[in-house]
Amino acid sequence: MAEPIYRRVVIKLSGEYLAGSHGFGIDQPTVDRIADDLIAARKLGIEVAVVIGGGNIVRGVEVSSRGVSRPTGDTMGMLATMMNCLALEAAIERKGTPARTLSAFVMPEISELFTRSATHKYLAEGRIVLLGGGTGNPFFTTDTTAVLRAAEIGAQAVLKATNVDGVYSADPKKDPKAKRFDRLTHSQAIEGGYKVMDATAFALARETSLPIIVFSIAEPGSIGAILRGTGHGTVVAG
Ligand code: UDP
Repeated sequence: MAEPIYRRVVIKLSGEYLAGSHGFGIDQPTVDRIADDLIAARKLGIEVAVVIGGGNIVRGVEVSSRGVSRPTGDTMGMLATMMNCLALEAAIERKGTPARTLSAFVMPEISELFTRSATHKYLAEGRIVLLGGGTGNPFFTTDTTAVLRAAEIGAQAVLKATNVDGVYSADPKKDPKAKRFDRLTHSQAIEGGYKVMDATAFALARETSLPIIVFSIAEPGSIGAILRGTGHGTVVAG
């Protein structure tokens, strides 16, 4: 079996994925399956921090079109990411692996505040660390959060788990001529305007020289395969 190529990573999961086939909310079998994949990744000896989106519950931009202000809508979205963290933390711990949710907000009854030192400590203890609450600021996304946290905690890569097996020139589900890229520079990803991740996230990754690997999480074990360098994804680097 190929040895893992990273020591510490941040894995970005979209909230939408946690909804399973329902399109909304938290689908327990999906959460359990993702928990299995994360635990398998941890067992490779890699320190695993996870950033989860909230799109399965609330996206700020959607609720703000219905009457609340964008910052309030975004705060609702950031709180949604906390719910997803707690669901995943519970699933991971139920399976016997320690996990810990850290929040971008002060909410002491629910979770400890994110700090670099707390993250280092819990990762060193072998816990899977779930980073909730996004960046703590409106107008950002959890993709940007994943890159920001990876840079802050000295991770070697961001693994962006999606429904497709990499970055395409167009949506491959709608356009049969869409071209898949094996490799892109950060600048090419920004200039191409590819929808898979927002430009702020790519720009911060370029600034901090962080590789992003975009891959499909549809197959069980796909996170482990990417970590061993045997998976199929688009590498955005350099
Ligand atoms: N969000 C935010 N600031 C952040 C991260 C997230 O305001 O730093 C809000 C924003 O409203 C976003 C929502 O949280 O729509 C859920 O995050 P995201 O859309 O990234 O989730 P995903 O699409 O990955 O499920």
